[in-house]
Amino acid sequence: MAGGAGAMNGADEVLDVAVVGAGPAGLYAVYKLREAGFDVLCLEAAPGVGGTWYWNRYPGARCDVESLQYSYSFSPELQQEWSWGERYAGQPEILAYLEHVAERFDLNRSIRLNARIASMTFDEGRHLWTLVTTDGDEVRARFCVMATGCLSMPRAATLPGREAFKGDIYLTAQWPREEIDFTGQRVAVIGTGSSGIQSIPEIAAQAERVIVFQRTPNFSVPAADIVMHDDYQGGWKQNYTELRQRQFSSKGGVLFDENPQSALELDDEGRAAEYERRWGHGGLNFMRSFSDLALSQQANDTAADYVRGKIRSIVKDPDTAEKLVPRGYPIGARRMCTDLHYYDVYNRPNVDLIDMAAEPIETLTADAIRTATGTYEVDSIVLATGFDALIGALLAIDIRGVDGRSLREEWSPTPTAYLGLGINGFPNLFTINGPGSPATLANVISAAEHHVNWITRALEHMRDRGLNRIEPEPEAQENWLAHTQELASKTLFFRAKTSSYIYTAPTGERTFLNFVGGFSLYIGESNRIADEGYTGFAFA
Ligand code: NAP
Repeated sequence: MAGGAGAMNGADEVLDVAVVGAGPAGLYAVYKLREAGFDVLCLEAAPGVGGTWYWNRYPGARCDVESLQYSYSFSPELQQEWSWGERYAGQPEILAYLEHVAERFDLNRSIRLNARIASMTFDEGRHLWTLVTTDGDEVRARFCVMATGCLSMPRAATLPGREAFKGDIYLTAQWPREEIDFTGQRVAVIGTGSSGIQSIPEIAAQAERVIVFQRTPNFSVPAADIVMHDDYQGGWKQNYTELRQRQFSSKGGVLFDENPQSALELDDEGRAAEYERRWGHGGLNFMRSFSDLALSQQANDTAADYVRGKIRSIVKDPDTAEKLVPRGYPIGARRMCTDLHYYDVYNRPNVDLIDMAAEPIETLTADAIRTATGTYEVDSIVLATGFDALIGALLAIDIRGVDGRSLREEWSPTPTAYLGLGINGFPNLFTINGPGSPATLANVISAAEHHVNWITRALEHMRDRGLNRIEPEPEAQENWLAHTQELASKTLFFRAKTSSYIYTAPTGERTFLNFVGGFSLYIGESNRIADEGYTGFAFA
């Protein structure tokens, strides 16, 4: 088990690098930085490694990117040794893989578990960061790598009367380690994003009754076949070098079956055949049916209408089907969901759907959820209410940079980081999958590998030259923000009123958080900046 780091570094001891978070990004950061000769300590809030895959143990939790791709590329030996049991692994297998990596590369000795960072302060005179845990322990480091995860800070749903409810309330994003048995229970599930859509069929197979509270209907397509065939895995193992190269040269860090045609080139019949084929195969390849689904509203409508038709054909009760049909935003503008029999679940007699637009929750009582028009008695409530994507985990820490500047204030109303990697006013601090990087629009493990490699190279560059401070210049950061917003404005993504890709400030400003130009373009751009001597970064 990890935790061998023992006591925090002593009062006078200064680490080269503190890595915050031992999820996929943090584990690789420990490996890579240690290999490069840096003195590293990783601080992890959880009692185990794995990050979001440690916490998200809800029934049905599964990745919708193929495990042969949603895995590390840095070690050919690891790629050959590890065999995936499922083509799209579930949470237990992904966590087992990450735990294996931590052991295989002896990372645990550099990881301190149960260490949640509460605050971080930059000492300008000494060019170092002091990190303080919620227990009051301190760590000092010259550099910080924030591997805090882009989908790791659960969104707190405010439920009036929550304290009155006598039953159990579970959060999909912080699911208990022991098995939860819903047999004989009446269960409410609030939230119908990927976590809700994956867990609802599993809970409905067990519980006496399930009441789903839906705020915004999402588009979901059937998950691809999760069964792993030996010859398929063997083919990957034989060709990993080339396939990884293709992955890193792709738009999203994932090999998809990309169709270069426009949806508008084909007649209705031809288009429907393509959608039908992809629906049958399942998975996120559906959104690669045509090249212009994220760019042309007219093209997008054809895909959205196809899925709406599918929902109506699967769900037998027409009123329920209409409640489930997403409207008012382009398909793909909010994160696509994939499911195993999600829409079918509404044909079960023990499942009901509440449209929160028509029936908002008013309050919880001791044994029920009361809406504007009804009272629903329940034994347990499952909150599948999602995350504060990309920025939530960073803002949960009181981060103070130059002159005591607070990151929370700095990012109000617009969160921004140059290349998604560094923030002006916060020297020697790097973010992995931060705002302005592809993050959740890419394969986050591949994206983390790229970021960690980039950061390690920057630190080596500094070490070779005796430099001790790196910080993005304000103009470079502003230009990058403008660039990312302009790219997003050329797509349909901004047409969603709310989505995990968009941060809406309390004052109403909307910022597109992800770099939408494509993973390979981002890699090219960030590597070019490094090759040119870190254009846009100031050193001292
Ligand atoms: P999510 O996609 O953000 O969905 C959260 C759901 O909760 C939404 O339906 C949201 O409604 C609802 N909600 C939030 N606050 C609420 C409130 N106060 N009252 C009522 N409803 C509320 O979160 P998620 O499902 O946990 O997924 C998060 C991210 O992880 C996504 O990017 C997802 O794709 C990814 N993920 C991927 C997989 C996979 O690989 N298959 C699995 C799980 C998660 P609104 O939409 O109206 O806000």
